[in-house]
Amino acid sequence: MTSDAVTDYPSSLEEIIDDVNYRKETINALKRFKRLNPWKGDLDSRITKFCKLHLSLCEIYGIDVKFRCHPSILENSHSGQSNYNPISRTITLHGRLSVLTFLHEWGHALKGRSEREACRWSVNLFRRVFPNNFERLRNNARGHFLSG
Ligand SMILES: [Zn+2]
Repeated sequence: MTSDAVTDYPSSLEEIIDDVNYRKETINALKRFKRLNPWKGDLDSRITKFCKLHLSLCEIYGIDVKFRCHPSILENSHSGQSNYNPISRTITLHGRLSVLTFLHEWGHALKGRSEREACRWSVNLFRRVFPNNFERLRNNARGHFLSG
């Protein structure tokens, strides 16, 4: 999600599945992140893993994006309020620490306001590095599964 509503949100997961070309460094950074297991550990140690990945992505793409966790991250609830603010260039995760949501907001940082482009970038990257998690997501997908 961005601060302005954009209406090109894909209506299904299937329509954005594609073989997107990613930089080798991006895939390697995601693989390192996967080896750390982003779902394991207490919140602080999980945030540290996300920060490491975040700094790698900043370096790979040569952009200075900030990363923050909203206090609601403690609730472990829906991450749909998460956003990327293009003015302050800040990714803020809400509700819970979600790998796919984090990548989605990175999609906005790289591709701009388009929901379709942000989803396409993040979902296919997630699918490539976390195929098992992706299949689970695909089986459970309802409504705004690609957000936030
Ligand atoms: Zn979005």
